[in-house]
Amino acid sequence: MKTSTLALIGSGPTSIYALQHILDNSEVLGKQFHLISIFEKSSKLGYGMPFNPEFTDIYNLANISSEEIPKLPQTLANWLRAQDRNYLKDLNVVEFPIKDTEVYSRIALGAYFSAQLKLLLQNLKSKGFTIATYRNHNVIDIKTISNTTAEIITETHRFKFNKIIIATGHHWENKDQSESGYYDSPWPIFKLLNPSKDYYNFDIGILGASLSAFDVVTSLAHRHGTFLRKNNRLTFKLHAKASGFKITLHDANGWLPHLQYEQEQPYREIYRYTTRETLVNLKNEKDALFIETYFDEICRPALLNALEKDDLRDVIQLLNNNSFDFKQFIETMAKKHEYLDSFVGMREELELADKLLKRNKPIHWMETLDDLMYSLNFHTDLFSAEDHLFFNTEIKPFLMNVIAALPLQSAEILLALYEADCIALINGKVEIQNKTTHGTHLKIVDEDNNETTKTYKLFINSSGNDTIAFDNFPFKSLKINGDISMAKAKFKTLSRIKDVRSSVPEDALLPVNDTLFLNLGGIAIDNVYRCLDENGQPSQSIYDLAFNHIYGLRPYSYGLQACNATSQIMVTSLLDSALQSDEPVEIQTITHTYDEERTL
Ligand SMILES: Cc1cc2nc3c(=O)[nH]c(=O)nc-3n(C[C@H](O)[C@H](O)[C@H](O)COP(=O)(O)OP(=O)(O)OC[C@H]3O[C@@H](n4cnc5c(N)ncnc54)[C@H](O)[C@@H]3O)c2cc1C
Repeated sequence: MKTSTLALIGSGPTSIYALQHILDNSEVLGKQFHLISIFEKSSKLGYGMPFNPEFTDIYNLANISSEEIPKLPQTLANWLRAQDRNYLKDLNVVEFPIKDTEVYSRIALGAYFSAQLKLLLQNLKSKGFTIATYRNHNVIDIKTISNTTAEIITETHRFKFNKIIIATGHHWENKDQSESGYYDSPWPIFKLLNPSKDYYNFDIGILGASLSAFDVVTSLAHRHGTFLRKNNRLTFKLHAKASGFKITLHDANGWLPHLQYEQEQPYREIYRYTTRETLVNLKNEKDALFIETYFDEICRPALLNALEKDDLRDVIQLLNNNSFDFKQFIETMAKKHEYLDSFVGMREELELADKLLKRNKPIHWMETLDDLMYSLNFHTDLFSAEDHLFFNTEIKPFLMNVIAALPLQSAEILLALYEADCIALINGKVEIQNKTTHGTHLKIVDEDNNETTKTYKLFINSSGNDTIAFDNFPFKSLKINGDISMAKAKFKTLSRIKDVRSSVPEDALLPVNDTLFLNLGGIAIDNVYRCLDENGQPSQSIYDLAFNHIYGLRPYSYGLQACNATSQIMVTSLLDSALQSDEPVEIQTITHTYDEERTL
């Protein structure tokens, strides 16, 4: 008998993939759920944040091609092919024929997702589900009523559901101080454009040199000059009245992002190189999986194989020595990406990437490392506190630089600006000292501890961090009633605060009885994304899939493939409760389904 109701909060890609997996399992889930409701705070349903034209400019590119986007009713490329050319022009899709391997504007992706949501809702209705959509409905709170029922509270209404899926995605607090020309995030990007349409004839500072920073660069550059292709090379010419326009990027390591590369497998897989069972068996007597054990047992052989295919003899030799550890591997690969001048390095990498793409030659080590870390992401509950710290400080910055790779078109834009002397990169840790009516005042400390200062009339924090601390969790009743808890991990060797004080801020340490834990940030969830209450028990009604709430336990969730995998895991848990299985759901079972689907 259909008795249950389900709500999705947010209508971005994560919710859209959840609906796709519900549809794929409609035979079972259709017997349980009679109503699916979707709450969206924006006026636009199905766009998500990065792909919504209210946030994103026509010049901002996606970094994922049609062939890499997980399955929805239509592929992006086929959907684009079916659109009118005038409409495509509005979406800044101007090059034809449409290719499965090309990246397109993010607003084109938003329009595509919205169209896919419409199709999915029609298909779900045809399978007997009742669908209710609520746009312009900002969910402000969630309250549990019983074990199996919870309430969604908007500014004007209350709604009861049996299952609530939080898929609220990105959220940037508005901490801008526009009177100082300081913007705490680039979103919505339009706030950065000069309202009087005058040119910015001064040096603009950007914190970060990754994809978000690149959005700012491209949006501002297109409004201060013209890009032209001459002899197959992109060039940039400033408008006559914008001769003072310049952008300075700040990055702690002085890195520009790696470039997109040809891949053997367009999809990441959680269990390409290992199994859940193997990982559980690798746990030591302290019941933790040491990251070095993971590196030695799982990563080393897989990476050696990949490096062999890439013919990187020097790294193979190093990695063949068992004392060469994970940190040394990352340092070695990072050095290969370090140049005296990062833009000159990017030009070399662009020429190489172009050749490899033309020859369909993948960069195997990057793809393998991405898969290995993707796998790790879904198992960090097995980590000790020390390994969480190690992963976040030593490994993740490099991964984000390699994996959140820059499309080649974007690299061409950066290089055209560099060759026109309109962009620079400063290496060093930035400390914002203060913000005044003269601008944002920075202290910059480089790797040799040299200090410099700089003031910007316009400064944009594009470091891309929108994580939400436990205390700022948006649905307060869940916190007040103990229905959620902090994500934390136990220290394996250290048990006293004074042992760790030097390396960890004191407020990140949680002594519980005689045991010392690290506050990982965000909220605790189980394997299938159910919120864990203050006693560590999984909620029967509330799941949280928002990456910025669960980053402590899912530190490497990035992009549409992770949205899809996360949604699929959650839906398999719904299936499990629909079938009232006595067996707890194992992540391996869930991702096995995922792997099977991919190989079909
Ligand atoms: C700038 C940027 C660019 C990116 N580009 C790419 C890319 O090119 N390729 C890629 O694979 N990944 C990209 N990503 C990664 C991104 O995480 C995912 O692709 C995707 O957007 C995540 O989807 P989501 O549904 O979880 O979150 P979102 O896309 O943020 O969607 C969440 C939705 O929930 C709604 N919402 C939020 N709070 C509430 C509330 N309280 N009540 C009701 N509704 C609410 C929002 O309005 C939004 O529609 C990018 C991320 C950023 C920040």
